[in-house]
Amino acid sequence: MLPFARRQAYVSRVKEFFREQYSLDLQVALNTHVIHAEALSEVPKDLFYAPQGAGLSYVAASFGTGISTLKKPLNTGIISFDNSMGTIELQSGCTLGQVYDFLVASDWMLPIQPGHPAVTIGGCIAVDVHGKNQFKEGLFSSSVRSIQLFHPSYGELTCSNQENSEVFDLTMGGLGLTGFILSAAIQLIKKPGLSVTVENIQVKNLIETYQIMSRLKNEKSLLYSWNDCSHSAATGRGYIISGQYQPDQVSQKPLAVATLRPQSLPFALFNSLTTPAINFAYYLLNTKLKTKGVQSLFDFTFPVHNKVFYFSWYGPKGFIERQILIPESVMNKYLDEFRGLIQRHRPTIVLTTLKSFKGSSKFLRFTGDGFCLSLDLPANNQDHKFHFDLDNLNLKYNAIDNFVKDSRVNSNQIKSTYSDYNNFKRLLFQFDKRRIFRSHLSHRLDLDSKD
Ligand SMILES: Cc1cc2nc3c(=O)[nH]c(=O)nc-3n(C[C@H](O)[C@H](O)[C@H](O)COP(=O)(O)OP(=O)(O)OC[C@H]3O[C@@H](n4cnc5c(N)ncnc54)[C@H](O)[C@@H]3O)c2cc1C
Repeated sequence: MLPFARRQAYVSRVKEFFREQYSLDLQVALNTHVIHAEALSEVPKDLFYAPQGAGLSYVAASFGTGISTLKKPLNTGIISFDNSMGTIELQSGCTLGQVYDFLVASDWMLPIQPGHPAVTIGGCIAVDVHGKNQFKEGLFSSSVRSIQLFHPSYGELTCSNQENSEVFDLTMGGLGLTGFILSAAIQLIKKPGLSVTVENIQVKNLIETYQIMSRLKNEKSLLYSWNDCSHSAATGRGYIISGQYQPDQVSQKPLAVATLRPQSLPFALFNSLTTPAINFAYYLLNTKLKTKGVQSLFDFTFPVHNKVFYFSWYGPKGFIERQILIPESVMNKYLDEFRGLIQRHRPTIVLTTLKSFKGSSKFLRFTGDGFCLSLDLPANNQDHKFHFDLDNLNLKYNAIDNFVKDSRVNSNQIKSTYSDYNNFKRLLFQFDKRRIFRSHLSHRLDLDSKD
């Protein structure tokens, strides 16, 4: 094992202050207490804590009322790297961009990467995130071999499938409720290529999209779609973005991690008139002009890294992201009825995408065999009835909502659709009777009180 980076001199220091924090979708803004601690053993034992990585979640997952956000200073934090085995040990505050940068010259890469390079390893584990290859590689936890976890009642715990295995399992997708992940050992995969050949395949509607994706997932490494559902006559036409790794490297842009907290415009640029026009132009661009090409691995992996303006275009009221996992067996019926809802309610859906998923769910992890439908809409009262009917459609077809993306989802919806909810909550209380770690999100999901 090659010790790669120097561990920083351990200076015990705790700083605290108050700061306004808001979720990326702008649906929650709170004045919060924040503690920056280099030595977690020195933090007071009588507070409630929410661990925070980069704080970039769409929902309020790392802060809350009466809760102290707990942070360790962010640094590159690569503890060790074994080039022969492809294993890497990282501090939890290490960002995906930093890992990418470190591994760029090696033969290895992280198998699962969500869409932005500024999110941290701790955030990826606690939310058990997915990438554009969920149908092949599953969730982030499948690559985690062990973690160091800090909890004031237990001190520092080593957790893996062999040691403290129940806590390890509970922490994967555990929303930071079992303690603060200090570091993680991760199994990398051999880099299948240095860049990605991208092909856009034109599709007429969402049903055709999922049917073609079902076929393509056996051939392609990376797959997702863009569809247009922005107006009542929109059919969901769009294109499937398929990616195949290739050996030649295209010029690598310098690591650009633009801030994901851009100043929002004073008004919403997306509305029922502008959105269909913007989407029409986007559709033409990507199905007529830019249908094929080669992208750097960085650009393909993190497509949002240079499009942060997108979030600011929702204006001061922000947006709602719906992310729904639909069982494959009901896709036709679900999408038929979904189309009916669009015609009836005419919501302003700016972004629609589909991803193929596989796996069986445990605890509150967002996974299963099927397709993940994501929708971004401006937050407004007009679409209330659409959301309500879509919630009922999900209940009807056992589709699950991703509560880490959608600030509206409440505990009743989660209790009815996540069959392991009670077990997850029971094990959390078994591990920590006081439930020291909590957040606005865990409160919303009714995970903080015992009954
Ligand atoms: C532009 C963009 C694109 C995205 N694309 C995807 C995608 O493709 N797929 C996907 O699944 N997600 C995606 N996400 C969501 C994102 O990956 C997760 O929300 C991730 O958790 C954010 O990481 P973070 O470091 O900002 O975590 P934070 O927002 O700081 O925290 C998220 C959760 O993790 C916990 N946590 C953070 N650090 C620790 C720690 N050290 N110990 C214990 N718990 C901790 C927090 O308490 C909280 O519950 C995207 C987000 C953005 C902004």
